[in-house]
Amino acid sequence: MTAMVMTACTGQKAEKVEATQDNFNYVVDQFADLQILRYRVPGFESLSLKQKQLLYHLSEAALMGRDILFDQNCRYNLPIRRALEAVYTGYKGDRTDPQFVALETYLKRVWFANGIHHHYAEDKFVPGFTPEFFQTCISQVGASALPLREGQTVEQFVAEISPVIFDPAVMAKRTVQSGDVDLIRASANNYYGEGVTQVEVEDFYARMKAGKDTISPISYGLNSRLVKENGKLVEKVWKVGGLYSSAIEKIVSELQKATAFAENDAQKSIIGKLIEYYQSGDLKIFDAYSILWVEDTASDVDFVNGFIETYGDPLGMKASWESTVNFINKEATKRTKVISDNAQWFEDHSPVDKRFKKEKVKGVSAKVITVSNLPNADWIRRDHGSKSVTIENITEAYDKASQGNGFNDEFVWSDKEREGLKKYGFITDNLHTDLHECLGHGSGKLLPDTDPDALKAYSSTLEEARADLFGLYYLGDAKLVELGLVPDAEAYKAEYYKYIMNGLMTQLVRIEQGKNVEEAHMRNRQLIAKWVYEKGKADNVIELKQRDGKTYVVVNDYAKLRELFGTLLAEVQRIKSEGDFSAGKKLVEEYAVKVDPALHAEVLERYAKLNLAPYKGFVNPVMKEVKNDKGDVTDIVLDYTEGYTDQMLRYSKVYSFLPSYNE
Ligand code: ZN
Repeated sequence: MTAMVMTACTGQKAEKVEATQDNFNYVVDQFADLQILRYRVPGFESLSLKQKQLLYHLSEAALMGRDILFDQNCRYNLPIRRALEAVYTGYKGDRTDPQFVALETYLKRVWFANGIHHHYAEDKFVPGFTPEFFQTCISQVGASALPLREGQTVEQFVAEISPVIFDPAVMAKRTVQSGDVDLIRASANNYYGEGVTQVEVEDFYARMKAGKDTISPISYGLNSRLVKENGKLVEKVWKVGGLYSSAIEKIVSELQKATAFAENDAQKSIIGKLIEYYQSGDLKIFDAYSILWVEDTASDVDFVNGFIETYGDPLGMKASWESTVNFINKEATKRTKVISDNAQWFEDHSPVDKRFKKEKVKGVSAKVITVSNLPNADWIRRDHGSKSVTIENITEAYDKASQGNGFNDEFVWSDKEREGLKKYGFITDNLHTDLHECLGHGSGKLLPDTDPDALKAYSSTLEEARADLFGLYYLGDAKLVELGLVPDAEAYKAEYYKYIMNGLMTQLVRIEQGKNVEEAHMRNRQLIAKWVYEKGKADNVIELKQRDGKTYVVVNDYAKLRELFGTLLAEVQRIKSEGDFSAGKKLVEEYAVKVDPALHAEVLERYAKLNLAPYKGFVNPVMKEVKNDKGDVTDIVLDYTEGYTDQMLRYSKVYSFLPSYNE
């Protein structure tokens, strides 16, 4: 398999990560619950110079926006990061002092999570150093190196920033997704200005949507912060000349350079549209760009750059900035072509109600490559198909590594399941991702009167569940054997077992004792696993068995399990198609959120003994231009030697354009 990930700018998406001890020279750093890995980019050398230059400028554009996500996640993230970086580089005391080591760990976590909240659990980090130590460090640094507000003294700065770091009650959670609180006011993120309430936001966008096109609706609110000015709500749009302008101008400038190296006219116009969108902030242009992007299946180089995913906003409207760059893995892509060529067959044979099926599934294309995601707007998926991707090099590394680290020995019921995972796990895991991305998200349709935002805070979890269920259901279908995608009719059982074990038990290793499940993908997995466990109880489909005081998942009836996936898929599709908010809410609240504290404690204890870091991050290879004496670029080379701290400090120095306070 060839590796395809080029630049994961923020680099820190650890969505589908298995525990691993892949300890040869891939491991760069380890701290808290994180292990930082280096990844390779095989195939880069054999690209043309033009393609390499395109990748270079797109990767530069990816780095230019790094600060945006920090500021979106919380308005204090940039000042805190900058203050800590100043302390870290200027510290004069003993660097082995436990207080300093704790500060260093805290800073590394802030870099990884793009802010002061855990990237998955969304809770604020608990610093291992004292406010007094922080105060001492800050006074060593001196005013000129600190992100002070205009006219602010160092003392005032410390007084402002300290509660944000140290007081657990202040800005406790990045995104509050459920409960009876005001989700906007309870969330520490920065998508809405101070004092803006959930009711005000909902009213504001309801009014904006009223009477507008519902066939191809604009993603209202996607690229702005909603703030109150003189008692009136106004959108501060993220664009050239608007909010985040100083970073967006740099992105645009790199995109302009990239245009010269575009592989074809279609790609040239995609980049051009994106520039136009960044310059205007016009969401109609964003949709036009998204359509061009989805339709381009000819280019080898691909990228995502912009405000795409809305998981960070409790109301699912505001998008966080992200960027990834990649090129195609041609070999593995053939597999997804087989899937997309048969898209209509899958749509026609799915267990959902006929009224919710698409008569015609269009243009489903798929590439094996990268972390990038689908555009959000439902109508783009419906009318223009979807474009999807897999990071095969990364999944393979995880899969290989996870064989030898003791994880499966600890949690998997018997050798039979372990052998299945070894034999089929990599194939079926990739295939599940392909089915999820290529077919799952793009399948089904809304009834004509259904508001696409009807499921509100529950929409992300239910959408992921829908796509996962589509994939799970078809993994066990004889059609996959017929298409040559799996070697035999037994293969799917490996993914079924892993999915249920993960959803019922092992994903809990990523959650602190006493906390509930918050993140949408994790909620989705627990929702599915718990639902089929409960509904299959009468037939003993899945059991939680005890052995030597430990709990194990045992799947007794894989065929019945598949039927249950089909039943739940039909129900989740109905909820989406009809916009049945109360049924969606019930499903999520009943199955996806709550954790059994005793089982949680057991899993954490067993996992702790394995000494594995539950999350993985990556250091990017450094791309360098090689020039001749006339100054022409003659090659682009990759350097794999940079460490994590060095890379983060360099990014903060070279690619940091936003003011500390973006208000
Ligand atoms: Zn998905």
